[in-house]
Amino acid sequence: MELSRELLIAEMIDPSTGEPARTRIEVRRDPLTGHSSRILPERGLMPASDFNLEAFARESQPSCPFCPGRVDRLTPKLAASIHPDGRITRGEAVLFANLHAYSSHSSVSVYSPRWHYLPLDQVTRRLLTDNLATQVAFARAVMSADPQSQWASINANHMLPSGSSLFHPHMQGIVDSQPTTMQRLLTEVPAQRYGAYVDTERRLGERYLGNTGRFEWIVSFAPIAPAELRAFAAGISSPAELDDDLIAELAHGLALALTAYAEMGFQSFNFAIYGAPPAAEGYPLNLRLACRSNLRAFYRSDSTFLERLHWEGAVDVAPEVVAGRIGDRFRR
Ligand SMILES: [Zn+2]
Repeated sequence: MELSRELLIAEMIDPSTGEPARTRIEVRRDPLTGHSSRILPERGLMPASDFNLEAFARESQPSCPFCPGRVDRLTPKLAASIHPDGRITRGEAVLFANLHAYSSHSSVSVYSPRWHYLPLDQVTRRLLTDNLATQVAFARAVMSADPQSQWASINANHMLPSGSSLFHPHMQGIVDSQPTTMQRLLTEVPAQRYGAYVDTERRLGERYLGNTGRFEWIVSFAPIAPAELRAFAAGISSPAELDDDLIAELAHGLALALTAYAEMGFQSFNFAIYGAPPAAEGYPLNLRLACRSNLRAFYRSDSTFLERLHWEGAVDVAPEVVAGRIGDRFRR
């Protein structure tokens, strides 16, 4: 597989010197969906976090509905047909119905009611495993109670810049009869293209991070968002098919990535684990994980007219630089 890229040169007259200046912009095309992305020279668009998250956590805690003493009273229960207890728990993680539904079945799951403040280098494999396990149990319960709802995804908005309305860290599940646009586009990709993409990245090595067992991790060639990673697991197509071993493996990969993000100065992220219907032939369960701008007063959003309205990524953190920063931690 050839990875498509084209170099563009912009010319202008530099206001400080009066001399012509040139800027290199690389336009890349995603090998799966064809979405294009612009890799810009590093220009400081994503400054490291200098916000006092801990102080903000203390401020938002007294009214937080996900904290101990309030989570049982203030969060909605699941319908009895989905779960007789109204909530799904694993370890410290607690899953409940989303007060603001986005689909016929929408859930929210906290890593723990205790973890109102959870910086990225403290999102452990254990916390991720338990939280993912509640989402997998939710997807299975919904599919069994409502067989029309075959499209499951597990997602996260982490910190306000990512779209999260509540500070307290959590994941969100969607199980629906309707795919999202990206789920639909990804299931339209021919099966062999997934294998060819991962094989190509493994061979090139520049953006390939490693294999944690079943999951292959790479830095996106044509990211829609900064420092975007992708992972692919052949042989399963829905989060509902993740067994305990695969949940633990996925949690391990996510924990490695989030620790790397913390080291790079990022504290806000999104991820989406894109499920197709269970047993979808040739579709690998896959995810995207990407950084968002850091929380601070009058911050610049990383999502511009390009991302929102053109569906075109524009990042000044080159994927190869991200791969270099992550290094060999996925290979150990
Ligand atoms: Zn809280």
